[in-house]
Amino acid sequence: MSHEHLAPASRVVALGRQDRMPGAGVNAPLELSSTYVADGPVNYARGGNPTWSAFEEALGALEGGDALVFASGMAAVTAALSLAGHGDVVVAPRAAYNGTVASLLDAERDGRFEVRWVDPTDVDATVAAMDGADLVWLESPSNPLLEVSDLAALAAAARERGVISVCDNTFATPLVQQPLGLGIDVVVHSVTKYLSGHSDVILGATVTTPDERGRALHERLSRSRLLGGAIAGPMETWLALRGLRTLHVRLERATANAKELAARLRQHPGVDRVRYPGFGAIVSIEVPGGADGAERVAAATRLWTHSTSLGGVESQVERRRRHPAEPVAVPEELLRLSVGIEDVDDLWADLDQALQR
Ligand code: PLP
Repeated sequence: MSHEHLAPASRVVALGRQDRMPGAGVNAPLELSSTYVADGPVNYARGGNPTWSAFEEALGALEGGDALVFASGMAAVTAALSLAGHGDVVVAPRAAYNGTVASLLDAERDGRFEVRWVDPTDVDATVAAMDGADLVWLESPSNPLLEVSDLAALAAAARERGVISVCDNTFATPLVQQPLGLGIDVVVHSVTKYLSGHSDVILGATVTTPDERGRALHERLSRSRLLGGAIAGPMETWLALRGLRTLHVRLERATANAKELAARLRQHPGVDRVRYPGFGAIVSIEVPGGADGAERVAAATRLWTHSTSLGGVESQVERRRRHPAEPVAVPEELLRLSVGIEDVDDLWADLDQALQR
């Protein structure tokens, strides 16, 4: 059955299922084989696995391209960065997920890439930096400053200059934004977050366009996965596909909670600044008292979990600068709130008592 006419809420449920034959399971199998009888579509599980295929079919259709599942979001980031060769010029955001920034800093230090650090919300400056570049890295909304880039304008400028464009779409998810449709070449995901949604797996993915240019990139990413060898476990992939089934309802509820909390936080005397792009379920706030003040708020929550990561059903809070790798553009007193699907008044009551301390 073609799924293209279906609404997103139906697609997350219907995609990546087995063919409907009498007696077939309604779920994709959890396939635990390292090797296969010769001459079939898959011969060895480092190169392919039916559980991967089911997840990739679903995510690929949601993003409008061809997906590859990776062992973690960072494995997908590393594979995407491998599209730039030794000595290449990479245009990258000063503030983004700290693992991505750390990888770029290492590559710069080791002389593998020349990195041009930019503020991607400044389209003119970012486009100017693309002249003579090989790859541009974007993350929108960004982690944890929640800055939004003009992906269509930046992707068009990259194409004109023959620059490969990559967008980390972890925060938006394909339900909110499909970067490939805006002209981006490669989408990267930490599947660990919203796509799987229950804080129980580490997984990543790339997605590329179905045209000739995208297929060539897909081949290179697939080879990087095959030869890099740090591949996704079938169990994690199966859990991620199960999580994906509820993405629409989870995100709808979490977003409604985030909108309400962002509005209430803007009126709270214990909050200096609220960052919320108007969509999605991450809200970042700045509180008085510097790093210590922010740490005290995080430690005083009871329903919110003081923990790293985001995108699970449970609400989480963290001061990002507690991580030494966090870019200095992120204020010391910034708390990232990953709003979950609990009752909004319970979330508010807990946050309010923590802020009042
Ligand atoms: N990209 C973003 C935006 C992230 O927030 C993260 C992790 O927090 C990653 C990539 C890395 O993903 P993983 O932790 O699954 O390796």
